[in-house]
Amino acid sequence: MHVTAIIAAAGSGSRVGSATPKQMLDIGGGSMLQHSVNAFLQHPRISDVIVVMPAGSPAPMPAADPARVPPLRIVAGGERRQDSVANAFDAVGPSSDVVLIHDAARPFVTAGLIDRTIDAAMTHGAAIAALQSRDTVKRVERRADGAVIVDTIPRESVYLAQTPQGFRREVLAAAVAAGRSGIAATDEAFLAERAGYQVHVVDGDAGNVKITTAEDLEAARRRMGRPAASAGLPRIGTGYDLHRLVDGRPLVVGGVVVASDRGALAHSDGDVACHAATDAILGAASLGDIGRHFPDTDPRWKDADSLDLLRETARLVRDAGFEVVNLDVTVILERPKIKDMIQRMCARLADALGIDAARVSVKGKTNEGVDAVGRGEAIASHAVALLAPSTLATATADPRASRLESTS
Ligand code: MG
Repeated sequence: MHVTAIIAAAGSGSRVGSATPKQMLDIGGGSMLQHSVNAFLQHPRISDVIVVMPAGSPAPMPAADPARVPPLRIVAGGERRQDSVANAFDAVGPSSDVVLIHDAARPFVTAGLIDRTIDAAMTHGAAIAALQSRDTVKRVERRADGAVIVDTIPRESVYLAQTPQGFRREVLAAAVAAGRSGIAATDEAFLAERAGYQVHVVDGDAGNVKITTAEDLEAARRRMGRPAASAGLPRIGTGYDLHRLVDGRPLVVGGVVVASDRGALAHSDGDVACHAATDAILGAASLGDIGRHFPDTDPRWKDADSLDLLRETARLVRDAGFEVVNLDVTVILERPKIKDMIQRMCARLADALGIDAARVSVKGKTNEGVDAVGRGEAIASHAVALLAPSTLATATADPRASRLESTS
């Protein structure tokens, strides 16, 4: 049996409150999308995987079991979720017997739930994972004098739809056609119903949560054992970088061009201060290192302005729930002296980080003529960064907030 999995990852996820699409946010051990994709890539009954991404976004590189990798394709999403799934369905081959559709925002889907959905879809034509409501369900109308209950629905008959949703290929073809004929739907099960099919329900999984809000994101990170920003503690990180100095290259330090006949040999502009700062900040947030986020094999970062890497790093840690409290950088360079440029370097680094220049320090050292740096063959830099959870950083920046905290 050939089973195709479609992972819907084309939404903007604005309710999480991040500029990054929520499915790309790291929850520990990778993004939501990566976890969702891996659940299907690593499932023995999945034959191929199609990921629907926002049009124009960089393709994800899911790390799968190298021993068994079903083919993975990327398809551009459409305006609505149903348009995205329709685009993906166009890429499903004629040999597919069953097609599963799964939300990238449900990274905790289990192999057992995937199995149940495949089996029921094969037997009945259409099946979705759903959870019986544990709460009493009221139908409510909003009126001029407030919200009023108009009906109480027996909870035994109320199920909350999850994904995966599974269909025999011809059933999904009819559902997609119903959608294209003008029916609007928030899931494919509804379109299959409207196309005249009975959709069966398999027992969903309470752990198969959809990550929708910032609170859901924090809970997912705690579940993955990732140091959560809400732990409330500041975090420290260190960074180090060194580049060889060669003739005929510009020397850029802390985003400032230093007049010199020699410059750093590098894929990027070779700005050691920016690179050490980037590693210090990533390290403080346990987000890996500069090589993971900005690999020198990626042509996007060739001759990159390292201030842009630092700016992107600040965004990454903000998305992870942190603010940079301060950054302290030491630059080790035999000549020329950088003393007169330090203020400008602090301003450039602070601007990239989106913080006040008073929170950034740059210090110049020589190596007293000792070793390669001392002989002028290389430039090196050390950096230390302190991060605080965003809420704490906001509270300490606002004197009224810190007063409230200290009296409670
Ligand atoms: Mg470097």
